[in-house]
Amino acid sequence: MKIRTRFAPSPTGLLHIGGARTALFNYLFARHHGGEFVLRIEDTDRARSTQEAVQVILDGLDWLGLRADEPPIYQTSREARHVEVAMQLLEQGKAYRCYCSSEELQAMRERAMAEKRPPRYDGTWRDRAPSQAPAGVKPAIRLKAPREGEVVLNDLVQGEVKVKNAEMDDMIILRSDGTPTYLHAVVVDDHDMGITHVIRGDDHLTNTFRQIQIYDALGWERPEFAHIPLIHGADGAKLSKRHGAVSILEFREQGFLPEALCNYLLRLGWGHGDAEFLSREEQIRLFTLEGVGRAASRMDYTKLTHLNGMWLRQADDTRLRDDVVERLAKTGITVDTAAMQRILTLMPGLKERAKTLEELANSAAFLSRNVPLPFEPKATALLTLENKEMLARLASLLEGTSFTAEAIDSTLRAFAEAEGRKLGQVAQPLRAALTGSTMSPGIDSTLIALGKDEALKRILAVTA
Ligand code: GLU
Repeated sequence: MKIRTRFAPSPTGLLHIGGARTALFNYLFARHHGGEFVLRIEDTDRARSTQEAVQVILDGLDWLGLRADEPPIYQTSREARHVEVAMQLLEQGKAYRCYCSSEELQAMRERAMAEKRPPRYDGTWRDRAPSQAPAGVKPAIRLKAPREGEVVLNDLVQGEVKVKNAEMDDMIILRSDGTPTYLHAVVVDDHDMGITHVIRGDDHLTNTFRQIQIYDALGWERPEFAHIPLIHGADGAKLSKRHGAVSILEFREQGFLPEALCNYLLRLGWGHGDAEFLSREEQIRLFTLEGVGRAASRMDYTKLTHLNGMWLRQADDTRLRDDVVERLAKTGITVDTAAMQRILTLMPGLKERAKTLEELANSAAFLSRNVPLPFEPKATALLTLENKEMLARLASLLEGTSFTAEAIDSTLRAFAEAEGRKLGQVAQPLRAALTGSTMSPGIDSTLIALGKDEALKRILAVTA
């Protein structure tokens, strides 16, 4: 049997980390088993679905490297099939037409509540003859669900969970306006798409029992189900906007690497011994549903940022340079070819110090500036008259130094000694002049990245 999983987001809100993690688990599970991963956009709630949300799903999955093996299926495009299956159930006597008006249903709910019963549909039309149908009323179609027995689910994460059929009422599968309900559409689609494993958030657990009733009525084989615990905020409360339950693409803007975010989301709710830092290949090799915990996990930005720093240090320098250039462009800084080269040259040092791509871009900005540089107050403070004179003397020495790490290092050391200064007392004012700040990678690599001409230009700009 070929394993097929799916990610089935509703484009009614922007894809957030909870959804991204569900997609990741489905993707890894399929890849681990040499199976297929597909995407279904559940856009049947036309009033609340937006094109923007669809785009975030597509771009977000693309960014995270969770590409589906087939073009996405839009649920609305399958409506005729959903209706067809509902009609089939009707013909087989497994479903029936319900002519209750919304007022009647409301009265039914109020009666139940007054009698302290759960507000369920009471089966008014379950056994009534169609000849009793009121004229001119469009019926909804309800599943004639069993009233005895129970639905037993052997969930691959939650274990065995049961619900008595008596606790579930006859759900609507087709509304009176002819549109399918979510519960029905998902079953038909998962079946037709050959989905073998439904991996989704445990907020769908109650839906699963109802969906199993539909599978059983149709005589269709049920897929396996795995309900994964939700992600909570650091305070333990359900994730909301307040916690940064924002579009997954905002993580990109904030400077997180997709592989770091995936690595973090995987570890959030799944474990394999102490393994923290896992490549995509390792994730695929190691991922099993047995490793998924049953407790809700908490989003921890500090951990994510730390992990991002680790991934950043491993990332390819050219890729990082390109990202930095894009980020700088967004802030209005154009990076010419010379500056592109400088950024690339200094990247090994820059990436050691940054935890996000935003930090990296900020720390690289000085390489693409022209004199006169903007100076941070701390840098200005270092550029005293005395220090400027010292830098002017240093400039003429640097002019005759070849710009290699060794040559620069020995020039600086010899100069510091001659000046009766510690190396840092030379390097810090020099750094201020070169970068406009007090922090940068090692002074020799900073000088090399700038190149002799640009370095001297910057020193002279403060000393002249
Ligand atoms: N469309 C549902 C949602 O976004 C998920 C449905 C499913 O996974 O079965 O929550």
